[in-house]
Amino acid sequence: MSDFFSQDELVSVLTTQPLDRLLDYRAPEGGCAIGAFVEVPLGPRKVIGVVWGKGQGGFDPSKIRAVNAVLDVPPLREEMRIFLERAASYTLTPLHAMLRLATRAPGLTETPSARKIYALGHTRPQKMTDARRRVLNVLEEHGGLPFTLGELADLAGVGASVVKGLAKVGALEEREAPRDQPFPLLDPDYFQKELSSEQREAADVLCAQVRSDDYHGTLLKGVTGSGKTEVYLEAVAEALRVGRQALVLLPEIALSAEFIKRIEARFGALPAEWHSGVTMTERRRCWKMVATGDAQIVVGARSALFLPFRDLGVIIVDEEHDSSYKQEDGVLYNARDMAVLRASILGGEVVLASATPSLESWANVEAGKYGKLVLANRYGPAVMPQMSAIDMRGEDVPTGTWISPSLRQMVSDRLSKGEQALLFLNRRGYAPVTICRACGHQIACDHCDARMVEHRFLKRLMCHQCGETKPLPNVCPSCEVEGRLAPVGPGVERLAEEAAAAFPDARIALLSSDRFASARALKEHIQAIAAGEADVIIGTQLVAKGHNFPLLTLVGVIDADLGLQGSDLRAAERTFQLMRQVAGRAGRADIPGEAVLQTFQPEHPVMRAILSGDEDGFWSAEAAQRRTAGVPPYGRMVGIILSSPDIQEVFDLGGLLARNQAPLHAVGAQLFGPAPAPIARIRGRHRVRMLVKADKGTPLQTAILKWVGQVRIPNSVRMTIDIDPQSFH
Ligand code: ADP
Ligand code: ZN
Repeated sequence: MSDFFSQDELVSVLTTQPLDRLLDYRAPEGGCAIGAFVEVPLGPRKVIGVVWGKGQGGFDPSKIRAVNAVLDVPPLREEMRIFLERAASYTLTPLHAMLRLATRAPGLTETPSARKIYALGHTRPQKMTDARRRVLNVLEEHGGLPFTLGELADLAGVGASVVKGLAKVGALEEREAPRDQPFPLLDPDYFQKELSSEQREAADVLCAQVRSDDYHGTLLKGVTGSGKTEVYLEAVAEALRVGRQALVLLPEIALSAEFIKRIEARFGALPAEWHSGVTMTERRRCWKMVATGDAQIVVGARSALFLPFRDLGVIIVDEEHDSSYKQEDGVLYNARDMAVLRASILGGEVVLASATPSLESWANVEAGKYGKLVLANRYGPAVMPQMSAIDMRGEDVPTGTWISPSLRQMVSDRLSKGEQALLFLNRRGYAPVTICRACGHQIACDHCDARMVEHRFLKRLMCHQCGETKPLPNVCPSCEVEGRLAPVGPGVERLAEEAAAAFPDARIALLSSDRFASARALKEHIQAIAAGEADVIIGTQLVAKGHNFPLLTLVGVIDADLGLQGSDLRAAERTFQLMRQVAGRAGRADIPGEAVLQTFQPEHPVMRAILSGDEDGFWSAEAAQRRTAGVPPYGRMVGIILSSPDIQEVFDLGGLLARNQAPLHAVGAQLFGPAPAPIARIRGRHRVRMLVKADKGTPLQTAILKWVGQVRIPNSVRMTIDIDPQSFH
C-alpha cells in the first residue's frame, strides 16, 4: 500500500469524534502522507484527525469533501497506529477513544509561536498584598522556573491582573519565550555507580537485549533496596546509546519528584515528565518533543504509554504488580499489559520491575514469555527485616483502641533508641462507620450504597465512592435522637490520636493521600519525615510505595487481616504483596529492621507465607489454586457492569443478555450473573454485574461483541466492559 496520497486521491481519516467508523476525504493540494494529522470538515465543524489509510470509497465521489489542511505535527507512525488498533480491539474500546488518549495535549495543532512568560524580578513590590505574595510564593517554590500568565494566575489562585501588576512594578520579569523547546540532551555515561556483581550481571543481560533490536520482556525481581532502579537505568542508558528513547512508568506520581532527581544524577539533566501534575504547556511540549526525538527519557504515569515516541527502545514498568496500573474509568486498560504489547510491536525491551511480582507476570515467566532476572540481596549492609506476628487473640486491647500492649512496648523500645516506627493501616479518615447508639442506624451516602467515612480533620463525613461530603450531624437522621452518634472502627486519623496518647513524648506524623493539598506538599512532608522530623509515622498504602526512610526500623501492621476479607480473587496476592512492601520500609540503612503483623489468624496460610518469607511456596500454592479454579492468570475473565438510575431497567437488560448467551457458549465461555454489584449503587446509578469466564486462549473479545450486539442498550443504561478486571466492586 502506498504511504502517500496525491491531491484528490481518497483517504480515510480517523477523527477523535465519537463515530464508529473512519471517514473518506479527498487528499488536499500537495497531497498527504499516511499518519498525517489533518483538519477536516465534519458537518459545519472543523475537526482534527489522522490519515489512517486509503479511502474506502462507495460514496458519491462528488459529495466527498477535501481535507482542509495538513497540520504541522509529526505524523503518527505506523507502529503507533498498529498499537492503537490492537489496544482498541483488546480492550473493546472504539478507535476514536484510543486516538483521544494518544493526543491528550492541548493546542497540539497550533503553530508554535512565542509567548509571554513570567519569572521573578529583582525588586520586591512596595505594596504587598496577600494575592501578590501568593504569586511570588509560587515562583519561589518552583525554584524560579517561569510560567505563562494563565498558569501562574491559576497556581496562585489570583486574577491575571495581579500578575500583570507585579510585572509593571518590576517584581516579575516578563519575557518572550519560544514554545516547545527541546529537552536537554542526556548523557548515558554522565555518572555511573559501581554495580555489585549481581547487579552487573542483570544489567548486562538487559543491555544486550536493548542492543538486539528485537522484542524482549523481562521480569526484574528483587527485594526492596536491592538496586532494581540502578539496574534498569542501565537498560535506559543503553537505549540512549543506540539512539533510542526510554519510558519509565511509575505507579504513583508522588514518587516522580524523587525519581527524576535520580535520573538527573545519572544522566546529567532532567527528563520529560508526563502525569496529571504537569502543566498543560509542558504536556504539549513533552508530546511534541517525544515525537521528534528531542525528549530522550519520559518519566510518567500509565497514560504516557500513548505518547507518540519517535523511536522507543525500552519501557520500564516499575512496581509492575501495582493495581493502579489498571485504568478504572474511561478507557479500561492495564498499562502493564499494554506496555508489553507496545514493546512487542516496536521491537523493544520491556522490563517489569517489582519486589513482589503479580501472579500474571510470574505465570508469564513460567510459560517462557518473559525472561527473569533476580536480585537476591539488598545493596550494601541493609538486610531484610525480621517478620513476626502478634496474635491478637492473646492481647488485651480495650475497645476503641487498636495498638496491642506488645506492639506498644516494641514501639517504645525503638523510640527510646532514637529510631522511627511506622504504624500501617490501610484506611483513610477517622472511622469507617458512624453509628447511632440509640437506634443502630449507620450513616450512609445519599447517592451510593456505601457508608460515610468520618474525616475528623475536615470535620466532615465523606463517601469514598463518589467523594460527596456532609457535615457530621449531631442528631441521628433516622431516630432524631441527639448526641448518640459514635465512630466505629479505626482509620489512620483515629490511630494517630491513639498513638499520641500512647506515646506522649513522640512526634507523630500522619501520611495519607487525602491530607495534602498538592503532590508538592506531600513530597515535602515525606522529606521532612525522612530527615528525622517525626518519631512515629502513621500511614496508609501511600507509605508502601517506595519512599525511603533511613531511620525507620520498626513497622507495625495494625490490621494484617484487613485485605483478606471480601471475595476478590487477588485478596491473598494483594495482602502478600502489601505486607512485604510495607515491611520492606524498615531497616534500609545499617540498622536491622523488624516488621510485626497484628492478626487474629496467624495460622492462615497467607499469614504463614508472609511470616516465613517463603515466597516461592506462596506463589506456587496460589498458582495451584487459581489453576484449579480456572481463574486468571490461568483463565480469562471479563466483567460487565450495567448501570442506570432505574433499577428495573438494568435487571431487565441483564436478564435479556443472560437469556441470549449462545455466542458465549459457542466459544465455551460461562456467564455468571446478573447480580447486584457489591456496591449496588454509585452516584445514584444502580449497578448490576455479570462475569464471563473462559479458558485461556479463548477469543473472548469477538464473542462478547457478538453477544452484547444482540441487544439494544437504552440511552439511560451505561454498559462497561472490563477485560481482565482487577476490581470487583
Ligand atoms: P530498589 O529499586 O530495588 O528498591 P534502589 O535502586 O532504589 O533499589 O536502591 C536502593 C538504594 O541503594 C538506593 O539508595 C541506591 O542508590 C543504592 N544503591 C543500589 N545499588 C547501588 C550501587 N551499585 N552503588 C551505590 N548505591 C547503590
Ligand atoms: Zn457516595
